[in-house]
Amino acid sequence: MTLCPFHNDKNPSMQVKTDDTIFYCHSSACGAKGDIIEYVSRKHNKSVSDTIIYLTKLYGLRSPEEKQRFDYIYKDTEGKDKFRKVKTVYENKMKDHDWQHKNGDIWISGGGGLKPILFNLDKFKDYMEVIICEGEKDCQNVNNLNLEQLATPARGILQVQNQ
Ligand SMILES: [Zn+2]
Repeated sequence: MTLCPFHNDKNPSMQVKTDDTIFYCHSSACGAKGDIIEYVSRKHNKSVSDTIIYLTKLYGLRSPEEKQRFDYIYKDTEGKDKFRKVKTVYENKMKDHDWQHKNGDIWISGGGGLKPILFNLDKFKDYMEVIICEGEKDCQNVNNLNLEQLATPARGILQVQNQ
C-alpha cells in the first residue's frame, strides 16, 4: 500500500498489483483505479494516446502512432552501441527527434549524463581525412558518394574543433 497521488491521502490507501500492473485506491471518495497507462495519463495530465507515445519513447519502444522511423546508432571506437538518435514521423506528420543512451540492453531517453560522441566514430579511426556533416542524414548522403563521413549530434561541432 502506498499514498494515493489522486486525492489528499494521509494514510496509504493505494494498492498496486505489480504482476498485472493494476492500481486501486481504497478510499471510497476517490476510487482511482486502472492500468499503467491510466496511472501515467492521470499523473501527468496527458491523453491516453500522448501517454502511449510518452511511455514508448521513455523506454525506447516503437509507438503505434509511428509512420516512419529512422534509427541512427552512435558506436564508440570499439563498435559498441552508445547512443541512438531516433527520428520519428507520426501519422499526423509531426516529427520528433529523440536522443537516447544505451544502458545494458535497453535504450533510455536522454543522454544519461554521458559525453556525446561522433556519429560513425567506430569508422573514424581508420581514416586520415573526414568530412564533418551537420546531421546523420547528410552523413548518409555523403556516404552515397562513396566517401566516409561522420557527424556530430546537435551542438557537437565545437567539441570536434576542440579535440
Ligand atoms: Zn485515491
